[in-house]
Formats: sequence, structure tokens, C-alpha cells
Amino acid sequence: MQARQIGIHQFMPDKIWKWKILEQKIGQHLYLHDYQEIRLSILQNHDVIQEGLTVLLEKEEAKENGDTVIKLPRLSEAEPAIALRPEGTISVLHHAAATHVDGEVQRFYYFGAMFRRDLGQSPREFHQLGAELLGSDSIISVNEIISMGVKICQGLGLKDVSLKLNSFGCETCRPDFIADMESFLKKNKSELCADCFDKLIANPFADTRCDEPACLKILDDAPVMLNYLCDECKSRFDSVKKIQANLAHQYVVNPKLYKNYAYYNDVVFDLVINSGGKERLLGGGGRYDNLSRGITGKNIPAVGFYIDVDMLFEIMDRRGLFIPQDKSFCVYIVSHSKELEMMVLQIAHEFHENNIKTVLSTNTRTMEEDELAARRAYCDLMLIVREENVRDGKVLIRNLSKEHQDYVSLNGILSSTLIARKALNKE
Ligand SMILES: [Zn+2]
Ligand SMILES: [Zn+2]
Repeated sequence: MQARQIGIHQFMPDKIWKWKILEQKIGQHLYLHDYQEIRLSILQNHDVIQEGLTVLLEKEEAKENGDTVIKLPRLSEAEPAIALRPEGTISVLHHAAATHVDGEVQRFYYFGAMFRRDLGQSPREFHQLGAELLGSDSIISVNEIISMGVKICQGLGLKDVSLKLNSFGCETCRPDFIADMESFLKKNKSELCADCFDKLIANPFADTRCDEPACLKILDDAPVMLNYLCDECKSRFDSVKKIQANLAHQYVVNPKLYKNYAYYNDVVFDLVINSGGKERLLGGGGRYDNLSRGITGKNIPAVGFYIDVDMLFEIMDRRGLFIPQDKSFCVYIVSHSKELEMMVLQIAHEFHENNIKTVLSTNTRTMEEDELAARRAYCDLMLIVREENVRDGKVLIRNLSKEHQDYVSLNGILSSTLIARKALNKE
């Protein structure tokens, strides 16, 4: 039997530099919008997370099903149940509620690994960026979040990202939709797969991610929330569409846009992009005005988005959007004499004091092999320290980009190196 793949990540140096570019560019966008970074613990209180994910589900049986949270075994009953962080919104709300003052707006973002286990699947680790705007239910707060999601993707070179919009309504207009959806599901129960029926009866806004043709055909005729919106929800939805259109953000209204988690209301959105011949879900979000009241007791209207950073990375990499930043100035130092080791380390130390990166040749090699190693490490200079030269008070400096070399005196090593750095415009 083939071992099942576990979705874990290992980041090797050939990928890390790209991740750093990604993080830095995303951080810059969020900084410009005054979002503060928040670092959430990977270990979370299981009951708090579970409550957040299910508190807005009305049916008790729904709270038992669809558990995607990875819970760690407990050593004793006295120990609190611990879960691996499956998402960030609930923790952010708990953090913010402790100090939240009515009327105050807080903006947070987080970036990191999340862990989930979908029904019948192995555990998986994935990376998510999340941004949350807490304390406002205004139209501009929704538009800020949507626009920021679009701008981050576009700023990373994914100009063709587009928006899908839907509305999950409010407490006034949802009950009629939920009642009609429930009778529709019961009427068609025999034709739907058990998974679709259970998920949708528990949460009619659930994304079932089922591709059974029979289910797709039936659900095509299911009621949609957009036909039930009250005047206020309709007007909010229209305002968001109008503003996004004016910002030249391409969008389509998708009445069948649903979410994995049940805490959303009002305007919801997906960020999608075509890659590898199909449409990919890159991120999304929406309002979750009632979640805080349910889990913290405080009324904090809120809106947020997430971006699937693994997918973002994969698409950017496939499109060649990671461009190495200018390599910093670097000196490769060679000496194959044991007697000169101390001197080599002292030269390296002096370079580091002057913010010059060094690579020491640590194995015995031919000069050709050393030069190849120096070029592979993107070094600009090779400093060759030989006993016979040191006896004459000099060392050899080879400029790898200019293909020439010169002897310099021992006390002129640093100044010659600084001149070479200046000439290469790498100060
Ligand atoms: Zn409404
Ligand atoms: Zn199904």
C-alpha cells in the first residue's frame, strides 16, 4: 500500500529568498494601510476555536460534524484540549476584544502556517495571510478590505486576479432563505449525496466542494440568498459593486459563492485567478459582524480576508515573478595554509565590521575549483592569501566581474576592497 502523503512543508534556501520577497512586499502593502502585524500562537485552545467555528450554527448536530480542526491528545483530563491553529480570525477577535472600546477601529494582519484535516484526508499544513478590520460596519471598511486583497495580488504581479461577490444577508433577511433552503434540501434528500445534505442542512452557506453530477444538477436549482436580501442588504451590496467597479476591479456576482466557515454575513468575496488551465481560488473573505458577540460577548463588527500563500507562491513561481534582488557585495577568501588560518579569520572579521559579506574556502581545492565556488556564491572578489606573498607583505585580489587581479599590501586589504565595492555600486 502506498503511504499517504502528509501535507507538510520544508523550505530550502532555493525557495526561502522568494518567500522573503513575498513577505516583504505583502508587509509593505499592509503597512501602507496601517495594519499591524499580530503573531498568533500555533497552539490554540481547542474549545475556543471549536466554539468560534460553530457558535453561529443554529443546529446542534451541525456542531458535531465537519470538524476540520486537528486536536492534540491530552495527557490528563486536567489539561486543556489543545488544537493546531486552523485559522486566525477567532484568535484575533479574542485578542482584540480584551481591549476593544466601542467606536474604535483596529487593523491587524497575520502570516503563517495553519493546520487542518478535511474529512477523510490526512492532516495538512498550509500558509495563510489574513487581515482583519475590527470595529466598523461601514461600506468603506468592506471596500478597504476587498481592495487591499486585490491590490496585494496585483502588486505581486498577478494583474489578472478577479473578484467574485455575493451576500449572505443579515439576521432580518436570512431566516426566509434558510427556511426555503431547508425545505428544498428535504424535498431533494434522496437525490443528494449524504455529505451535501448534512453540510447544507447544518449551514446553507457551506461550500460542499462536491463534484457529484447529481448534486451539482439539483443544487443548481436551489434557492439563493441574493433573491432574499432585505432593502438594506441589497443597498449595501449595490454600493460595494459600484465602488469596486469604479476602482476598475474586475468582478462578477456569483450567487453560489459559499464559504467553508459559518461565521460570515453580508458581503462576501473570493479572489480568483486562472492558472494551469483552471480557475483557482486564491483567497477571499467577507463580513463577520456576529462572530465576536457569539464568542467574546462584545459586539465588534468586523470584516477580513485571507490569501492562500502557498497558491500565491506557486503561481508567482510558475510565472517567473520572483526576481532576485541585487546580490550584495561579497568576498571569497582562499588560503590553503594552516599557518594563515588566524590571519584569514581576522580579515573576515574586519570585513564583517564593514558590512562586507564573506565566504571562506574551507576545503582544499584547486584555484579553478575555488573560482567556480566563488562565482556560484555570487562573490565579487577573491582574496587569495598565500604564504609566499604574505612573506613579501602582500595578498592577491582577483576581481571576478572585471576579470583582472592585483597584489595589494597587507594593510591595504580593506581599503582596496572598499574601493572595489564602490566601483561596483554595491555600497
Ligand atoms: Zn438583510
Ligand atoms: Zn454531493
